Amino acid sequence: MPELPEVETTRRAISQFEGKVIESSKVNNPNLRWKVDKNFESIINNFKINDITRRAKYIIFNSDNYSILLHLGMSGSLRILNRASNHFKKHDHVEFIFEDKKIIYNDPRRFGSIHLTKNIKSHFLINKLGIEPLEKKFNGSYLFSICSKSRAPIKSLIMNQKNVVGVGNIYACESLFEAKINPLKESSLLSEHECTSLAKCIKKILKNAIKVGGTTLKDFYSADGSAGYFKFKLKAYGRENEGCLVCDEKIIKTVQNQRATFYCNNCQI
Ligand SMILES: [Zn+2]
Repeated sequence: MPELPEVETTRRAISQFEGKVIESSKVNNPNLRWKVDKNFESIINNFKINDITRRAKYIIFNSDNYSILLHLGMSGSLRILNRASNHFKKHDHVEFIFEDKKIIYNDPRRFGSIHLTKNIKSHFLINKLGIEPLEKKFNGSYLFSICSKSRAPIKSLIMNQKNVVGVGNIYACESLFEAKINPLKESSLLSEHECTSLAKCIKKILKNAIKVGGTTLKDFYSADGSAGYFKFKLKAYGRENEGCLVCDEKIIKTVQNQRATFYCNNCQI
């Protein structure tokens, strides 16, 4: 599933279209998690993109009147083709056609979505989201203030989108490993020092993944390339029964909120 780093890498890859005009659009198949607006093609016609931003895992094309709000769901991807290309793939749902290129939205499992809105800030998918992990506002004192009021395990707290957005399961496991904090620990028991360390580790892990994404960008977006999500070296996630890279104890796997959690019971307290 595309996580925040993949979405941010996707946004960067298409940022070349800022200031460009979508001359027309084509909805090949409107059936996504929500049906694409039946007026989409008529509205997305000579649509000048002022900028392309990201909020949580949403990519947003802003124009003077409307915004296009796009989510990649479980299996969605965008690819860039020359306008004249006839390289179509199954599950190419929507095409954005520019002067000499086009962006194609492909989603085999259809959990993604494309919405049109005149008021992006109050859109129901956006208006209840927590703060961005890479912004300055997300720091030790912020994390400490919400932790001190919560009896939830710390891993659940950082994965709750109302607290902070975009910390998916893999990144939560890796950040807690890096910060040497047990994922099962009750949030209210974390010290301010631990919260500062955890906030820093979350930023570090996400930035590293974005960096790796940037270096693999060329393969990731080649016109006929498949939408494989990039891999960076994982220290805890997926390493059940393998030796901890710090102390060599076996990494433990458990399940929290139906999601796999991997941690070292020796290093993470
Ligand atoms: Zn260890």
